[in-house]
Amino acid sequence: MTATFQTIVLGLGAMGSAALYQLAKRGNRVLGIDRYNPPHTFGSSHGGSRITRQAIGEGLEYTPLSLRSYEIVREIEKQTGEKLLLPCGGLMISNKEGLGTHHIQNFFDNTVNAARQYNIAHDILEAQDIKKRFPVFNVGSHEYGYYEPEAGLLYPETCLRTQLDLAKSLGATVHTNETVLAFHATTSGVTVKTDRGQYQAEQLIVAAGPWLSELLKDSHKALAAHFTVVRQVMYWFDIKDHYESFKPGNFPIFIWEGQGDFATRYGMPAVDGPDGGFKIASPSFNEVVTPATVNRTASGAEAEALFQEQVARCFPSVKNKCLRSAVCMYTDTHDSRFVIGRLPGYSSVLIASPCSGHGFKHSPAIGECLAELATTGTSRIDLSGFAIEKAIAAV
Ligand SMILES: Cc1cc2nc3c(=O)[nH]c(=O)nc-3n(C[C@H](O)[C@H](O)[C@H](O)COP(=O)(O)OP(=O)(O)OC[C@H]3O[C@@H](n4cnc5c(N)ncnc54)[C@H](O)[C@@H]3O)c2cc1C
Repeated sequence: MTATFQTIVLGLGAMGSAALYQLAKRGNRVLGIDRYNPPHTFGSSHGGSRITRQAIGEGLEYTPLSLRSYEIVREIEKQTGEKLLLPCGGLMISNKEGLGTHHIQNFFDNTVNAARQYNIAHDILEAQDIKKRFPVFNVGSHEYGYYEPEAGLLYPETCLRTQLDLAKSLGATVHTNETVLAFHATTSGVTVKTDRGQYQAEQLIVAAGPWLSELLKDSHKALAAHFTVVRQVMYWFDIKDHYESFKPGNFPIFIWEGQGDFATRYGMPAVDGPDGGFKIASPSFNEVVTPATVNRTASGAEAEALFQEQVARCFPSVKNKCLRSAVCMYTDTHDSRFVIGRLPGYSSVLIASPCSGHGFKHSPAIGECLAELATTGTSRIDLSGFAIEKAIAAV
């Protein structure tokens, strides 16, 4: 007999675990399915930390999502005693020539505007202020910064685990190590076929991260083509000799806009103690992959190149000793915008692809909005700017 649910959540990464928790919280009879056992290292939600910030430079419509996510995270922390968020401050660095970009042009100015519009505490720092406050940042005299005290990092694995545990404790059914092969619209909802069985539901939320195109390529070719999966590498460099300068409290999360030959770089304080290194990465869009083909190991040559291009210039006190690295994937869109909404022709299927390298911080609120859309048809935060029709029109 086919098991029936009110909602099925396909994929239990950042977005799926948040949606599952929010649905279970609403008393929804929900099944979550994942091909692995999240949190895992095969998708987009691993690596120990993700930047979070309140004023969002990728577009004004994102700031309500980040502010609501802070509220949800703090509620979950209070409820469970788990630590999901480290508000260690955040520094965005740009240059006065206005040549920098991060995800989109005008990222820095948009961030400042969002902070002003939403009354988010911040300081504008000149180069000499940055050097005084955070001496290990080797900023040039033409650079300046936006500092947000409430910015910081989220622990992604803890976020996923905690929301999945909460969902289960609230009655959600979770099937791990089970792969969805296909889904079909029916008159009463949707049928989901996996490598272990078949399920029926009124609503399906597809939060498959970098596997999304594979699921859509036959039924929604144009939409599938909107997503490009690109390989990313995160590195941890040794800071043992300068740990005090890199530890949380003395060192913020940072996004340092690229210009000219230098690509954007971002990083985190040394959250794993003096021996854990500090994490730095530079978004890269050259290596188009699929989850099946991606090389999941970074070479010594890649670490050397990252050190020479980024670390040596920006943090001259850091030793050329890469302690470890991790490979992850962005599901990128041409304009870095999220894609969230009802799948054309499938009134009972919601697609959620909020990545392009900046989705994690919004995942608690996106999960809540998905749960609201699945149960009531509307969400407290307007997601129409991320509608699928817009994405398809742009292909
Ligand atoms: C290196 C890197 C750095 C980043 N830094 C930041 C940052 O600092 N701040 C920020 O806000 N965002 C950041 N992001 C983006 C953020 O991490 C992503 O937006 C977010 O993790 C995407 O979550 P997701 O749920 O869409 O995908 P995932 O977490 O990958 O989840 C997808 C899930 O679906 C499952 N699945 C897929 N197909 C199937 C199937 N057929 N059947 C069953 N299960 C399936 C997978 O196993 C997986 O668990 C970064 C991303 C990367 C890669």
